[in-house]
Amino acid sequence: MDWLHNLVLPGGKFLGIEWHFWKIIGWVGNVVFFSRFMVQWYATEKLKQVVVPSAFWWLSLTGSLLLLSYALFYQKDSVFIFAYAFTWIPYIRNLIIHKRHKRAHLNCTECGTLCPPKSNYCFECGSPLPAEESPTAKAN
Ligand SMILES: [Zn+2]
Repeated sequence: MDWLHNLVLPGGKFLGIEWHFWKIIGWVGNVVFFSRFMVQWYATEKLKQVVVPSAFWWLSLTGSLLLLSYALFYQKDSVFIFAYAFTWIPYIRNLIIHKRHKRAHLNCTECGTLCPPKSNYCFECGSPLPAEESPTAKAN
C-alpha cells in the first residue's frame, strides 16, 4: 500500500499540493468550472440534440468567479486575471435570456402542456393557445 500512499499523499501532502485557503478556493473553482462540461454533455446525450442547460451557465459563473478571486487575491497574475475578468458578462446575459425564454412559454388550457413561445396551437393536443400576455415577452 506504499504506492497508494505515495500516489495520494506524495511528500505527506494530499495530491502533492500545499493546501491553504486560496488553494481550496482555486480548486473548488476548477472543479465547478470543469463540471459544467459534464452537465452540458449529459443534457445533450439525454435529448440527443445539442443543448446548453441553465445549470451550465450557473456553473460557469460560479467557477469563473472563484477562479477570478483566486487570480486577483492569491496568484496576482495579469494573464490569469484577464482570462476570468469579463467572462461573467455573457454568463449572466445567457441566464437572463434563458429566464425570459422560459417565462415566455405558453400554458395550454386544455391539457396543461407548456408550449414554446409564439406558438399558436398546442403541440400536444392541437388546441388554440391564448395570445401572449407577458410584458417581458413583448419587451423582447
Ligand atoms: Zn394542449
